[in-house]
Amino acid sequence: MIDFNKIKNKVKKQQAIILSRIRRLRHDDPFSTVDRSIIVEPGTDAAALFGHEQVVVLENQLKRELKETEAALAKIKKGTYGICERCGKRIDPKRLEVKPQAVYCLKCKNELEAKKN
Ligand SMILES: [Zn+2]
Repeated sequence: MIDFNKIKNKVKKQQAIILSRIRRLRHDDPFSTVDRSIIVEPGTDAAALFGHEQVVVLENQLKRELKETEAALAKIKKGTYGICERCGKRIDPKRLEVKPQAVYCLKCKNELEAKKN
């Protein structure tokens, strides 16, 4: 049995961590502008530009993780949480405990990863 309350709490905690990481990233960004896009002018400091690119990559990754946690919470609400999006079977609760936002069962995940490589 899946303990939905436990999962919900875990996902919400993860969201808080991700959000604080995004906030910190923006603070560290040498090009912290409102629209997050930059115009590269001649003589732009290469190190700062590199720093900004790193921040953007990390931020996008964190945003993706945030979306995953939001999707997990939405699924709990809908009652479709813990069901593999690929084969429709139940995801091992032990796996969900480790990765609450998992959308595939271990078998599908391994198969998908094998295809990628
Ligand atoms: Zn599956």
